Amino acid sequence: MANEQVDRAGLEEYRLAAREWLAKNLTRVELMGSDEDPSPERIAEAAQTQARLHKAGYAGFTFPVEYGGQGLTFEHERVFMEEAKGYDIPIRLFGVSINISGATLVSCGTDEQKQRHIPRILSGEERWLQFLSEPSGGSDLAGLLTSATKDGDTFILNGQKTWSTGAHVSDFALCPVRTRWDVPKHKGISVLIVDLKSPGIEIRRIKQMNGDAEFCEEFFSDVIVPESNLVGEENDGWRVTRRLLEIEHLWPGRAWARRSDATLEVADLVGLAKRRDRDADSGVRREIVRIHVATEAQNLLSSRLAQGIERGRLVPGYGSLVKIGNDTLVQRRAELALNLAGAGGVTWTSNDGTGRRLAHTFLTSRSRSIAGGTTEIQRNNVSDRVLGLPREPGFDWGTPFDEIPHN
Ligand SMILES: Cc1cc2nc3c(=O)[nH]c(=O)nc-3n(C[C@H](O)[C@H](O)[C@H](O)COP(=O)(O)OP(=O)(O)OC[C@H]3O[C@@H](n4cnc5c(N)ncnc54)[C@H](O)[C@@H]3O)c2cc1C
Repeated sequence: MANEQVDRAGLEEYRLAAREWLAKNLTRVELMGSDEDPSPERIAEAAQTQARLHKAGYAGFTFPVEYGGQGLTFEHERVFMEEAKGYDIPIRLFGVSINISGATLVSCGTDEQKQRHIPRILSGEERWLQFLSEPSGGSDLAGLLTSATKDGDTFILNGQKTWSTGAHVSDFALCPVRTRWDVPKHKGISVLIVDLKSPGIEIRRIKQMNGDAEFCEEFFSDVIVPESNLVGEENDGWRVTRRLLEIEHLWPGRAWARRSDATLEVADLVGLAKRRDRDADSGVRREIVRIHVATEAQNLLSSRLAQGIERGRLVPGYGSLVKIGNDTLVQRRAELALNLAGAGGVTWTSNDGTGRRLAHTFLTSRSRSIAGGTTEIQRNNVSDRVLGLPREPGFDWGTPFDEIPHN
């Protein structure tokens, strides 16, 4: 109890210092840019902000100090992000790089890899992503076909990845590849750090239904990757990949960490209902309250589950539960907003940014139940990893990968 009081007092002090720093150093923004399809100028500006955040000690809150992190707790991160609400924090541009790729490297990388990359990831000098999905499918990740062949102290990479968010503006990727074909699929995977400037990589952008082109597909032709870029043991890459996915699924659970991405909040719905004279409509009021209650419950539950997993009290499969709840609510809020916008969400004039933003947010929200693993796959995870129900039967688990028909 005494410790808790000391911690609370310490956190309050931390909050006040963060508030003061933010007010002095960052710009307030009325509407957060979606950053789904950033211009080179926006990236340069965001990188400068990220460098300032890192220098001031507001990046890599839970990362070890020896790699440029702060060695603090998720509570410190939560407090900072609460204070940072309304400021132009480049979470969309650097969130995945730091909180998924960076965190995976901290968890599974060698000391040399961490020394080399983590400080640069935290300061925004390097932007990272993950090359998981392939044209043959993203759900059956262990069935990947991109191959790496050992050649002395290098790997030679060939194949194709797809749906990679922001590859055209990134520097490095964590990339699971097949290094053995004569063993069952989970046992022949290795994870490599791929430098996107390497010769032999072609990156093409993909246009999406919301009008953005944040996705890319990548083609690898004899790309040389040094052996020192191997993360974890050779052929034990499924362990690293699973760790990456666990980290990714849990991230929305730290709900504060996502406040500034392109999603709508309940306050936006209230404002919209007022502006469209729908705030006296009992149906609208009821739906806003339902969403408000569900959002609050989701935030509290997510925070609790995230802490339980971090402290080892809950299995990482609970991260899938967090993801399902969060994605569902992002979609419900976007649906109601589009409904409230009425015709304004479908047609708008060039000087009315709201309709365009709501339509964009609605279309983007559809992707939430696909990105980072579909809702069906998350339900499978909850079924076998949380509830202990029998695993979905896999006809190919025990068979050497080269004996299984592909495509
Ligand atoms: C916004 C966004 C960002 C993304 N960013 C990245 C990124 O940065 N890097 C990256 O590598 N990938 C990324 N992806 C890709 C994403 O991980 C995949 O789209 C996803 O894993 C699904 O794979 P798929 O599209 O190949 O669908 P498939 O795997 O072909 O699945 C098709 C359908 O079948 C269902 N299905 C498949 N298997 C099962 C099963 N066993 N049980 C029940 N249903 C099943 C799926 O739920 C889905 O509805 C992103 C996707 C989106 C939408």
